[in-house]
Amino acid sequence: MTVLALLDGTIVDHTAPLLRADDLGPLRGDGVFETILVVDGRPRELGPHLERLARSAALLDLSPPPRADWERGVEAVLGAWREPGEMALRLVCTRGVEGGDGTPTAWAMGTAVSPEVLRRREQGVSVITLDRGYAPDLVERAPWLLLGAKTLSYAVNMAALREAARRDADEVVFVATDGSVLEGPTSTVVLAEGRHLRTPPPDSGILVGTTQLALFRAAERAGFTTSVEPVGVDELVGADGLWLVSSVRQLTQVRTLDGRELPDTGTRAALHSELTDLLASEYRV
Ligand code: PLP
Repeated sequence: MTVLALLDGTIVDHTAPLLRADDLGPLRGDGVFETILVVDGRPRELGPHLERLARSAALLDLSPPPRADWERGVEAVLGAWREPGEMALRLVCTRGVEGGDGTPTAWAMGTAVSPEVLRRREQGVSVITLDRGYAPDLVERAPWLLLGAKTLSYAVNMAALREAARRDADEVVFVATDGSVLEGPTSTVVLAEGRHLRTPPPDSGILVGTTQLALFRAAERAGFTTSVEPVGVDELVGADGLWLVSSVRQLTQVRTLDGRELPDTGTRAALHSELTDLLASEYRV
């Protein structure tokens, strides 16, 4: 099922054309987006997602619609959704039409979470590391590269996933030129060393993950310690737990890295189920 809404709350046919051919979204990938998990009709971390959308837009000098408009679009999608199960809710905002007055084009669209995503949540993933080709300090030296903004230009991220598939892997961890871990093409990397969780810092040019923030919040309440600090690629194999986390995939365990089975230190499965429960407990009513 797919439900598409405009930000005035109108539901429109998602199979009918929506965009002008001269919209800068498809022409240039010039815009921003968010993907939000909806469970039992409730969007998770909607506030942080809307705040990140606004931050991404600011990095692109783009004026997105006001928050109330997004909330109206979200409500329209939620109201028209008729299926059990989880929804991936996308909020998309482009720079509008080429040569236009700068009015952005925006919409909200819900689709069912794919069975493959659910399977990977249960069974974990095989991951390869891929060179992202930049040093972690590039974000400061070259802000025009928009590192850390969630832009519509995801062609490189998708190409990395196809490269993983060519190498018989499911997923990717991007690595900087100095050997530090960045992020996945659509996920944040989190590792555990005992009851300490680590994730790489956003100032290395990666996205601030709403799921990682929620996970660390929940884990800290349960007595875990956390840190946001550089992680060397060599540290991944020895960790007690390694995950790709994001809104729709939630916590997905990394099972193999560059073809090597991650050694089970005896705590991997227990940590995974504890952290999965802790994250879910953030949303229990
Ligand atoms: N990093 C990238 C590049 C992403 O595209 C995403 C989500 O799609 C994430 C990290 C994780 O962000 P979130 O947890 O907010 O979904």
